Amino acid sequence: MNKTDVIIIGAGPVGLFAVHQLGIKGLKAVVIDNLDKAGGQCIELYPDKPIYDIPAIPECTGKELTNRLLEQIKPFKTKFYLNERVEEVKSKDDNWIVKTSNKNEFIAPNIIIAGGVGSFEPRKLSTQNTEKFEGKSIFYSVKSKEEFKNKNICVFGGGDSALDWTLELSKYSKITLIHRRDNFRGAPHTLNEIKKLQKDGKISIKTPFQLDRIEGDKKITAIIIKDDNGKKEKIPADIVLSFFGLVMKLGPIAEWGLNMDKKTITVNPNNFETNKKGIFAAGDICSYPGKLKLILSGFHEVALASVECFKRARPNEKYRFEFTTSSKTIQDRLGKK
Ligand SMILES: Cc1cc2nc3c(=O)[nH]c(=O)nc-3n(C[C@H](O)[C@H](O)[C@H](O)COP(=O)(O)OP(=O)(O)OC[C@H]3O[C@@H](n4cnc5c(N)ncnc54)[C@H](O)[C@@H]3O)c2cc1C
Repeated sequence: MNKTDVIIIGAGPVGLFAVHQLGIKGLKAVVIDNLDKAGGQCIELYPDKPIYDIPAIPECTGKELTNRLLEQIKPFKTKFYLNERVEEVKSKDDNWIVKTSNKNEFIAPNIIIAGGVGSFEPRKLSTQNTEKFEGKSIFYSVKSKEEFKNKNICVFGGGDSALDWTLELSKYSKITLIHRRDNFRGAPHTLNEIKKLQKDGKISIKTPFQLDRIEGDKKITAIIIKDDNGKKEKIPADIVLSFFGLVMKLGPIAEWGLNMDKKTITVNPNNFETNKKGIFAAGDICSYPGKLKLILSGFHEVALASVECFKRARPNEKYRFEFTTSSKTIQDRLGKK
């Protein structure tokens, strides 16, 4: 079991800044997120849109903000557990034990829930019988390209992910790209490359088609697709890769015995503690009178929560408020000379 001072659930902007606020106080943290990358809504929903209300940064995109936050926490060498959903939180003496979907276990006196609007999860195929193939022949993301080499792959979707993976995997596998509309939504240069591959006979494109049925017992052998007129086609397939976007689900957070108000966790605005000692909530997931769902509010919330985390993680030490400009200790922690 991994022991640390604070378990941070969520690698959105607020979870990332929590690492900083804990790190300058000398606390170790781990960060767990269901997504395959850090950045939360900023990276998943608006990576290229400019944000204008981050203090002292007149303008930066969601991606730039994420990169700056990651740069700022580099000195703390924090371990990230991505592609993992926190499923279970339970108490053990004065500590909390957290279990993830990948069966990782963590123990710490503190948890900061920076879970935003819940975990981002792939919108799944709605055809019958798909569940038994998930993780074996049906995938909603590509974690390692190795699994997708020398295969018959059917890629579903019409956006950037479907197009980018079609381009990439066509280098090693036979790809059929299937979309329910005739038009794809993608960057112009990607669309040009896709068209070129199709013209050269390197990929096959089927539009407007949807998945009708899957054939196979333990593994997929073929899929049947159909168009709006009911016309069907059978395509040999080893793997189905589906990119229908993400949905946000509060998920297991609602089952941890925390006081909730609609889909948010109610906190004490003095220290952002929930009704459970040592469990804090910050960012979009928390609510208190006057709460604003802004990134800058989340930054303030984790600054205060981190002080309380220090008191629980170091019960025999006195917390001393210090400025980063004048504290040698903080500057050492940041690796400054
Ligand atoms: C289009 C758009 C534009 C915006 N523009 C602005 C703006 O200009 N200025 C501004 O201040 N704010 C803006 N916002 C709001 C801002 O993005 C949010 O306030 C901010 O992202 C909240 O950060 P967070 O870290 O609390 O949560 P999020 O960014 O939502 O991150 C939460 C993370 O927690 C993960 N998670 C949740 N549950 C679990 C679990 N059980 N296990 C593992 N991981 C989990 C999720 O996968 C997610 O990655 C905008 C939002 C949108 C959608």
